[in-house]
This record gives sequence, structure tokens and C-alpha cells, in this order.
Amino acid sequence: MWSSTADPAGPGRPRAVTAKTALPLADGTAALDDAAVILAGRRILDVGKRRLVLRGFTGPVDDLGEVVLVPGLVNAHSHLELAGRLGQCPPPAGFAAWAAWLAAGDRRVPPAALRDRAGAERAGSGTGAVIDVGGRAGPAVADALLRAGLAGLVCHEAFGWRRPAKALVPAALEAAVSHAPDGAVRAAASGHALYSTSPDTLRLAREACRLRQAPFCLHLAEHAEEAELLRSGTGALAALLAGSVLPRGYAPPGCSPVAEAARQGLLGPDVLAVHAVWLDAADRRLLAETGTHVCLCPRSNARIGVGTADAEALLAAGVPLCLGTDSLASNTDLDLWNEVRALLAACADLPARAVLAALTANPARLLGRPGELGLLAPGAVGGLAVLPDDLRPRLADGS
Ligand SMILES: [Zn+2]
Repeated sequence: MWSSTADPAGPGRPRAVTAKTALPLADGTAALDDAAVILAGRRILDVGKRRLVLRGFTGPVDDLGEVVLVPGLVNAHSHLELAGRLGQCPPPAGFAAWAAWLAAGDRRVPPAALRDRAGAERAGSGTGAVIDVGGRAGPAVADALLRAGLAGLVCHEAFGWRRPAKALVPAALEAAVSHAPDGAVRAAASGHALYSTSPDTLRLAREACRLRQAPFCLHLAEHAEEAELLRSGTGALAALLAGSVLPRGYAPPGCSPVAEAARQGLLGPDVLAVHAVWLDAADRRLLAETGTHVCLCPRSNARIGVGTADAEALLAAGVPLCLGTDSLASNTDLDLWNEVRALLAACADLPARAVLAALTANPARLLGRPGELGLLAPGAVGGLAVLPDDLRPRLADGS
């Protein structure tokens, strides 16, 4: 497979890639036939018709022939620190069973070689940026992303009902991203979920994100057990968490996860609600009215056995969609194109432009980097990807 990270001209030296078609996905830019892109590393220097862009260009030219170039993709949800659990996920039996399996396993940070492999896998599949969520491994994850040449955001996840004793973004993570050239990889706080992180901590984590102008990520409405716990305080998840994660005397709010997130002031255009499987029409309206972004993770949902998000209904309601692989504890790889295949298998009528926006413009805007990520335009830094042959009939016209 052609890799956008290969740098035949030498590090940082301009090279050109040509192809039959390019979808720049920049506002107002049509598909380009007979296209060329000049880039240095993952920074785009020029995009346009081959004969114009290559006039006077003396660097190496890589002609990819009958392919469609698109911007490097943004994986909007992953947990790289769980890469060591690849291939171990039990058969689908619902979230509580999966969470019990995850908690019982080895939680040590995986070896550096494994982190590097995951980073390389992302780069090889056309991913240019990642929103990663995790705990102690944050500095190592930031380092792995930087070494793989990826941009993105590393979120330190607040978990538990006790008031956090330490900074919501640890100093070690701050130090790790401080080496990132041009701020390519940044740090933020995040919350795990409404049932696992206290309202006070969620509020503080979101405030920390606001101050950094970073998105606030929260797992929301992922599974039926979450909906049941919030509505009535009962069910398999309540039984699993009682006496450990859930506080003594926990009083369920008696509403849906999305309604409770709204009540806690946790929705908005700067929020990424991850999963959003268990929603009704009122929930979708709330998400749309607040401008909340939703990250779909169809393969993880299927692997854990929590159901299928209704992407078409979310889109019809006006909710901006993103797409993520989730972790290797509930997925077989970190290839976003495989996520697209799963999404289209479940939601056959999704328009191409919505799928492409979920991979590029929507997460780029969420990250506050709409001119830098998710588009092929001079000044963008997310590299480029090649649309796989089997997805070309479905996505290549971009409409
Ligand atoms: Zn997650």
C-alpha cells in the first residue's frame, strides 16, 4: 500500500504526488481531475491541476495513476494505551461483561514497540490525525503519535467519583506535547462517562478543555446498561460498579444519558459525544440543538454487542458526525477505512459527503483546526490518503 508517510525526497523536502482525481474537500473546491499535490512531510504546499502545479517543480514525482486522493483522515476516538489487548476481546455479550473482562486484565502500559506498531498502522491506512483518550500512558501515546508523524489531541481521562487530587492534565503529558513541532499534538482533559465520573469532575474537565480551546470528549449513550443505570439505578452495569466505581447511595437521575448530559451542561459544539447508540428522537434533537458532535464507532459497538447507532437519523436531525476506531480491546485494527465499510454496511443510504465530512471536516472543526486538518489545501498539515478501490463507487463523487 502507498504510504503518505514515506518521504522519498528526504525529511521535509518537497515531493509531488499525482493521480487521476483528488477530492480537496476544502470549502467551495470541486473534485480535481488530473491532479497533483506537492507536500513536505505531511504539510501540503500546493494542490491543483497537474500541469499547473508541476510547472517548474524539480523534486520527485510519484504518479499513483487511477486513484482518488483525499485529505489525511481524522480518527476521532481511540485508546492507544489498550493496544496490548489486541486479539483478546471476548465474544459480544454487552458492555458490562466486556468492562469486567477489561478491568480484570493486564492494565500495564504496553511496550513501546506495540505503541509504535499502532501508530504506523494508522499512518499506513491514511490517518493524519487522532483524538486519543487514556490514562497513565498519555505521555507515551503523545510520543508514539509524534514519532508516527501524526497530529492530534491526547486527552487525559478523568475517572471516578472522588474529586481529582491531581491536575486534570498531568504535567508529564504537558511535557510530552511541548516537544510537538507547530503544536501538532496537543493535550486536554476528558471525562469517561456519566456513570463513572462525578458531575463535579466532569464540569472541571470540560472547563479545562474550554480554557485550552480543546474539545471535551465523553462516552455517551453507548449501551443499554448505561441507559438503565441512569434511569433506574439497576441492571448489569449497576451491579458491576456498585461499591467500587459508583458512590454509596447513588441516586439515578431518572432520565436518558443525553438528557442528563444536557442537565449537567455537558453538551455543545465543543463536545464530542462518543458512541450515541441508545437515543430517542428527543435525544437527537438535544444533540442537534446544542451543536454537539457525535463520534460513531460501529465496529467497537458490534464487537462488544451494544447495538448499532442510527447514523441516518442523527444526520437527518442535523448532528455533526465523526468516526473513530475505538481501541484494539474492541476492534481488530485502527484502519478508518474499515470503519467506513462497517458504517456503510449498517447505514447504506448515508450520502458520500456526510461520510467524508465525518472523516475530515467535522473532526477538524471540532479540534479548532479547520484550515489545517481534513482538507487538501496549501498550509494543511494532515497529509493525504488514497480512497480504497472498493469504496470508490460509493464515495468518489463526494456528493
Ligand atoms: Zn472509548
